[in-house]
Amino acid sequence: MRCQNVSVLGSTGSIGDSTLDVIGRNPDRFRVVALTANRNIEKLAAQCAQFDASLAVTADPSLERELAKALRQSGARADVLSGEAGLKEAAGMAETDIVMAAIVGAAGLNSTFEAARRGKKILLANKESLVIAGEVFVSEAKRNNARILPVDSEHNAIFQALPENFDQGLDTAGVEKIILTASGGPFRKLPAEQFSAVTPEQACNHPNWDMGRKISVDSATLMNKGLEVIEARWLFNARPEQIEVVVHPQSIVHSMVAYRDGSVLAQMGTPDMRTPIAYALAWPRRIEAGVECLNLAGMNDLSFEPPDLDRFPCLGLAFQAARSGASAPVTLNASNEVAVDAFLKGRIGFDQIPRLVGDVMERTAVSSVQNLDDVLEHDRQARQTAKQWVAKKYG
Ligand code: NAD
Ligand code: MG
Repeated sequence: MRCQNVSVLGSTGSIGDSTLDVIGRNPDRFRVVALTANRNIEKLAAQCAQFDASLAVTADPSLERELAKALRQSGARADVLSGEAGLKEAAGMAETDIVMAAIVGAAGLNSTFEAARRGKKILLANKESLVIAGEVFVSEAKRNNARILPVDSEHNAIFQALPENFDQGLDTAGVEKIILTASGGPFRKLPAEQFSAVTPEQACNHPNWDMGRKISVDSATLMNKGLEVIEARWLFNARPEQIEVVVHPQSIVHSMVAYRDGSVLAQMGTPDMRTPIAYALAWPRRIEAGVECLNLAGMNDLSFEPPDLDRFPCLGLAFQAARSGASAPVTLNASNEVAVDAFLKGRIGFDQIPRLVGDVMERTAVSSVQNLDDVLEHDRQARQTAKQWVAKKYG
């Protein structure tokens, strides 16, 4: 296998760290060419020095000079760019074969889309891009022969459990349904009356996974699973009614595919994102990821239960958006990003996240989405409505 050049968008985050860890274990197979971050300049510079990257990008143009200085001090040789144009360059540069899309939120859309436009192999962690751009993103990838490989553990599991011909349609492949597992998050058993007192620290303290703060809050509200339903819809060309969610608190079974003949194929493993990252990086080969094999004999309980949509309304809202289609997922995602940010800043309570999202969805008409500009415009409008909601209640 020829050594593949990798650009890591969002290299300073949780997925970025795990990606560089796997690449570091397989230096003959992968070479880092570009790394990007939002504002964590010191860490970005240290990563560039360690992996000898040729391009470093900060999303914040006001930090470009500081980044150049940090790179010099750490002995890195990388060129420096910034802003949206810099992120797009990292995603689309000619020498890049593989783009790890690991920026959090809709902020990753333009650069991830650029990777699709340039026909790259896209390792998709940035689920929000696919949730909001849906068909526009998938058809851009198809048009340019860009392959999208899922990094999200559930979708990576499903990808492993599906037959090769799944892109001819799930019905043709004999698939009855896709079963997404959810850990249930830190509040799986917390009574609804106590949701208003939940703090950001409690919400970010996930029982099984160590992740960035935004996705940790999404996991606590079950919005993460809702976004994943929409993500699965586009990755596997599934109708919303072909997707089921089941709560599995141990996070050992990462998801399942149920077939017409009654077979259910599951993918299992230690909850460590390096496994799906390694699978996506080297697909269809298997490489060293630094993850220990499961000790099944030492495991006394693997349990499954239905999700509680009354205590976790975000999941129901996401199913509703998946069924409505068009601009509804954009509204869902944008209002959720505003809500999570407001919650993390102490401006709204944990219980108000689904209320805000539900209110904004109710107030926003669903309309068609034809291209990237439509996505960005719907995103802008929904953010505005959501911010007004926060300001009115707590201004
Ligand atoms: P994180 O917060 O740890 O890292 C986010 C990265 O994006 C950082 O490098 C940060 O500098 C960069 N970033 C943040 N805001 C930016 C902006 N406005 N412009 C450009 N770059 C920006 O997040 P994470 O947990 O690594 O998650 C990244 C993505 O992967 C998310 O979409 C998340 O849903 C998805 N994901 C994460 C996990 C996990 O285990 N962490 C699992 C599945 C999917
Ligand atoms: Mg996931």
